[in-house]
Amino acid sequence: MIQSSQPSLMKLTKDNYYDHVTDWQYMSATIFKSFMQCEGATLAKIKSDKLVDETATPLLVGNYVHSYFESAKAHEAFRKAHAKEMLTQKGALRSEYKTADAMIGRLEADDFFNFVYQGEKESIVSGELFGVEWKGKIDCLNLEKGYFVDLKTAADLHKRVWSDRFGGYVSFILAYGYVLQMYVYKELLQQMYHKPFTPYIFAVSKQSPPDIAAVKIDDARYSLEAEYIKKHLPRIMDVMNGEIEPHYCGECDYCRHNKQLHGFIEVDRLLN
Ligand SMILES: [Zn+2]
Repeated sequence: MIQSSQPSLMKLTKDNYYDHVTDWQYMSATIFKSFMQCEGATLAKIKSDKLVDETATPLLVGNYVHSYFESAKAHEAFRKAHAKEMLTQKGALRSEYKTADAMIGRLEADDFFNFVYQGEKESIVSGELFGVEWKGKIDCLNLEKGYFVDLKTAADLHKRVWSDRFGGYVSFILAYGYVLQMYVYKELLQQMYHKPFTPYIFAVSKQSPPDIAAVKIDDARYSLEAEYIKKHLPRIMDVMNGEIEPHYCGECDYCRHNKQLHGFIEVDRLLN
């Protein structure tokens, strides 16, 4: 990871945004959130270029929906590239993608969504936050009107999700760090275009029929996210730069897979 004062940053484009090498040059909301969950697993994954499991069905379904609203060309390319994962042995569309089609249809049938979802799709942003270079990819950027939109898919938009960070049940938008992500994008955009931007989220559920919501975020939430990043970023940078050993959460896929028992723990330790 390169601190912002260092030269030779790779210029980000739509084509190289997900390139492994850029993950060592730019922090992103995805990498930051992953480090907050498990430093050891995240470091191992970015070292081996496996930060995101691109074959995981929920991710593919999300990308399928995103590609549709990006452009007809992008959707067609996605369908071609992932035909194997999307189709059954008999060549029919798998149920997850039928659900995805219903989600697309639900959003597309909504006038308010169509009115707001106007602008440049998959817009790349970058800039400096707390002394580190960051990157981001925005689903829909309306430069002229000063807002941007991210599409989020979820099992159920109204489900209460437990959050250790917030110490209670919160909406999926807080639990999955989407406010943090919107804060980062908003700051990077402001640096790039020298004016403020308002983030919006359009959420669509995987239920049948799908639920939809247009979500705005109270400004007061952003100072909390700024403090959170400022507090934890230095340690993450030290871990990435190999200056301190990563902490292993002991519970994620990676930690469970690599677990070695060293003795007994008391009953209560199972609850951390
Ligand atoms: Zn872990």
